[in-house]
Amino acid sequence: MKHKKLNVELPEVIPNLRGVYNFPLPFQGDEYNVRLHSWVDGRMVGEVNPRTNELFFSWGETCGELSHAFHGFDHAAAHRFDEWNPIETLHSKRYLKYITDEKKSNVANHFWNLFEQEALNEIPTLRRSVNHSDAHEYNLLVQKGSNPSKVTGVIDFGDAIAAPTICELAIACAYTGMFAPDPILAMCETIKGYHSKFPVEDKEIKLLYYLIGARLMISVSHAALKYYEDPKNEYHQISAGPAWELLFKLKEISPDFALFSFRAACGKSPHPNADQVAKWMKSNPEKIGDPVNLKAKKTCKLDLSVGSISLGNNSNFETVPKFSKKISAILEEHQCDLGIGGYGEVRPFYTTDAYKVEGYNGPQWRTMHLATDFWTVAGTEVLAMADGTVHAIRNNDNPCDYGPTVILKHKADSLNFFSLYGHLSLETMEHLQVGQRVKKGEIIAWIGHEEVNGGWPPHLHFQIMLDLLGNDGDFPGVAFVHERDVWMSICPTLPSLEMYKSNCLNYGGDNIIATRQKVLGKSLSVSYKKPLHMVRGYGIHLYDDTGRRYIDTVNNVAHVGHEHPRIVRAAQRQFVLLNTNTRYLHKNIIEYAEKLLAHCPPEMEVVYFVNSGSEANELALRMAKTYAAQEDMIALEVGYHGNTGACIDISSYKFDGKGGSGAPEFTSICRMPNTYRGEYKNAETAGPLYAEDVKKAIQRLKKKGRNVAGFIAESILSCGGQVMLPSGYLADCYSYVRAEGGLCIADEVQVGFGRVGSHFWAFELQDVVPDIITCGKPIGNGHPMAAVITTRKVAEVFANGMEYFNTFGGNPVSCAIGHEVLSVVEDEKLQENAKEIGNYFIKGLQVLKDKYLILGDVRGIGLFLGFELVKDRKTLDPAAEQATYLVNRMRDLGILMSTDGPLHNVIKIKPPMCIKKEHVDEILKRLDQVFAEDFMRISQ
Ligand code: PMP
Repeated sequence: MKHKKLNVELPEVIPNLRGVYNFPLPFQGDEYNVRLHSWVDGRMVGEVNPRTNELFFSWGETCGELSHAFHGFDHAAAHRFDEWNPIETLHSKRYLKYITDEKKSNVANHFWNLFEQEALNEIPTLRRSVNHSDAHEYNLLVQKGSNPSKVTGVIDFGDAIAAPTICELAIACAYTGMFAPDPILAMCETIKGYHSKFPVEDKEIKLLYYLIGARLMISVSHAALKYYEDPKNEYHQISAGPAWELLFKLKEISPDFALFSFRAACGKSPHPNADQVAKWMKSNPEKIGDPVNLKAKKTCKLDLSVGSISLGNNSNFETVPKFSKKISAILEEHQCDLGIGGYGEVRPFYTTDAYKVEGYNGPQWRTMHLATDFWTVAGTEVLAMADGTVHAIRNNDNPCDYGPTVILKHKADSLNFFSLYGHLSLETMEHLQVGQRVKKGEIIAWIGHEEVNGGWPPHLHFQIMLDLLGNDGDFPGVAFVHERDVWMSICPTLPSLEMYKSNCLNYGGDNIIATRQKVLGKSLSVSYKKPLHMVRGYGIHLYDDTGRRYIDTVNNVAHVGHEHPRIVRAAQRQFVLLNTNTRYLHKNIIEYAEKLLAHCPPEMEVVYFVNSGSEANELALRMAKTYAAQEDMIALEVGYHGNTGACIDISSYKFDGKGGSGAPEFTSICRMPNTYRGEYKNAETAGPLYAEDVKKAIQRLKKKGRNVAGFIAESILSCGGQVMLPSGYLADCYSYVRAEGGLCIADEVQVGFGRVGSHFWAFELQDVVPDIITCGKPIGNGHPMAAVITTRKVAEVFANGMEYFNTFGGNPVSCAIGHEVLSVVEDEKLQENAKEIGNYFIKGLQVLKDKYLILGDVRGIGLFLGFELVKDRKTLDPAAEQATYLVNRMRDLGILMSTDGPLHNVIKIKPPMCIKKEHVDEILKRLDQVFAEDFMRISQ
């Protein structure tokens, strides 16, 4: 049944044939009072995985609709005592004796006391209505199969009672908070949903935290009683574990912080005094001063945000001396001695493992800075920002903490607020006493040096707080970006420091998308349903504009790691000196060519430097056609070799895909030697059988009076879906082509440079030596460069008199970079790492394959891996939507992956080569999590 005010299905009570709704029914010797309900179709919300923010919102929306529908309704039977009513929580105190664990009974008393002190007297002032009163996950339904984030049905009105209306929301929040790594976030979504259907009043929001605690207390105390009565009955304990867990978590969250968050969820100013204090500050400028004498110094705005060019490479803040050096260098560059900034700034240096917190979407970091920092020399005087009293002095001496810290208490008319001064000198501790009065501008402290200030370059951390949230002598200086409205409301900045506020979040992804659509070609694509705005890279990680750190498993270009300091330095060193072309003599190109050739089989003797993989293949095609004096190329199905005209003509991935018009006249395409999906499945014997296709292609050409110029193939098929070539395949293909005078090109653009672990080049896995190797992507670690490597004989024939000139190819900067990439691969033993970590990774994937039917095939070698998703392991029906879902979910969880293959159901893995076991563990853990989600489940 659908009620006119509700978008969800409800059960309808059906009378018996005599028109009676409740009637006795004998059953197994007893008599029961029964009533018949209509069926409400769906799945329990409790079975939904994952529980998304959309689900929490819809959960709240449904409760809001119920409150709306119940509005004005009354029934005598609703006016009864029910001990599950949150406002009756103190009745459950009599079960306290069954809570035998001391920690638990402490938490129980805490929440009952809070309820008694903060809520009890206010209850009679609240709006009342009949409530469903039990909106937990087994009384709400979603549709089977379709969008599991939308609640579509509500059952069990057996607990409906007249109560304060807000209890409906409190009960829902008690259950959305369970299992949620970040319960306040889940509750806020529920509140938003509820508020959108039935606006919540200020005094209701004020009591919400206590009512949530009250309901949870009823749940756990009843469970304790039931456990005492019947320890074997699991049903009664179903919510007890998660309810306790939530109570422990909630105890750590200040009720005020919860209140401010809940207010924000209802679209209200998070801190109720925020506007008044801001007004006071604006209208009393004479009562407020800067915490450092700005007139005595030359000042500049300092940008330490995640995307800050002046902050630069992560190696600049890896250690305190390096960080201090960097700060000094920035100040020197700006010719000033005091750098100011940081309020609202999203910073990259809080994203190490030490700061990691498990959040709603995997690991999270508090990246947004809530204070204004003053970077200058140790010993600089710190001044009280306004008249006040010393509220706290404490040495927060954990690494990366504030060190000596002072908190002052001030008054804005009748309202209190506080100011915090962190990273001070030890002398400060002696200088002040708690309770002491201070005047605006009075020296209260001195900036400390790195040995005492928590381990930072000398600076003052200056923060205003409208509420201490239960802290004493300490206060969070950074916050999650998703909580920024709440934190910035609690921690405003001074009007005089407004100009130093960071605008790093202002140029968000949405602006970029809109401008891209205007100024860039439509055929560019963007990864992920929620596109990412990346602003920094380092090692295996990329960082978005919110400072979120992602493990990159996609980027084989950043071969030795994103923005490797050695590569960055090599580029900078040469760039400041000279960058010209190959018409002048330069040692870089010689040294680099020799180093590159040293990694090749001895037959390879000559190098041509170009600027992209496409250009490398373009040149290789010209060489083959010149050498064989033929036009025809043989390439593989779903192969991709570049974006130039000639490369597109040999790339079936393009001409057989969207917008393509099939193979051109001079291209012959052979089947992928795919032993998972193809005709020949035995990897031992399939190689020569698939190679027959090349033989047949040549025969077809000869029938037309033509012959083969060359054969091009990747040594592991990337766009084809990370397909490993069966043994003997390339040897046979090469011999058929060479027999006709054609050349064999190994496209190593994706797979070269040690990625396969056991060898430097992937063609070595096939025991062959090509005539031409083309390389690109990893060669310059992100710098646009590429190379063609060939035999002396091919080079001689190609040099037919026509000059080969390439403006950029082989320039001194590119060669310095390429040289350093090879040195880093050697020095950091990255090929060995690819072998070791690759083996570890593939074993982990195989364990997942045994666990999840959808994982049809795991393949690859070294750090060039892939897995294929299928709906059915026998028919191999491709699970493309699931692959897309997985990639997007993994992105949400902080891991970048991508799909490929002709059926779009292969996940390819080709991370920077510096990946470590701990990263693989994190990837496998998240894959395990996502494979267990509803959308990934297939039944066989
Ligand atoms: N060959 C292969 C196998 C590739 O994957 C690519 C790029 N994806 C290219 C050639 C072309 O390289 P680029 O994009 O640098 O021109």
